[in-house]
Amino acid sequence: MSLSHTGKKARDAARARGEQFYVSGRPCSRGHVGPRYVANQTCLDCSKEQQRRAEETRRARRESDAVFAKRRRAQKAIVNRASNKRCRGRKSAEWAAWYAARLQRTPAWADLQAIRKIYNEAARLTKETGEPWHVDHEIPLNGKLVSGLHLAENLRVIPGIENLKKGAKFIMS
Ligand SMILES: [Zn+2]
Repeated sequence: MSLSHTGKKARDAARARGEQFYVSGRPCSRGHVGPRYVANQTCLDCSKEQQRRAEETRRARRESDAVFAKRRRAQKAIVNRASNKRCRGRKSAEWAAWYAARLQRTPAWADLQAIRKIYNEAARLTKETGEPWHVDHEIPLNGKLVSGLHLAENLRVIPGIENLKKGAKFIMS
């Protein structure tokens, strides 16, 4: 059985398993024996080296060519704007849901001033410590079994990291 036949078998098997890489058993033209892309048989090490060289070339050119640097920044800004826009719809839907829940869970007799104080406290701690502090509903507004109210009594200031651990979707500080 020839090596290339072994390589083809390995590639077909990896493809059948839905994997991105396979090992051909034969070194690439630069002597790498590591994984190759199933899609086009490109050697991963070669591909990484090429990306490194390309980035190095772009970096050198950004440093010496102000016009090029400006154009690259503009291109990146367009890509970033597009990707922000893709997320925005989902984000604002989450915010809207959260806001609606908060309104529904805020009784008419809620002490809004007391609530505001707690949010101010989170903001103060964030500023003072340089770490994010969030206002957390001890009993969640949209709990599975019970839902809490948007009242000072149900609010507490916690480190942002604790809030993220709880898997909270909404970051309030
Ligand atoms: Zn290679």
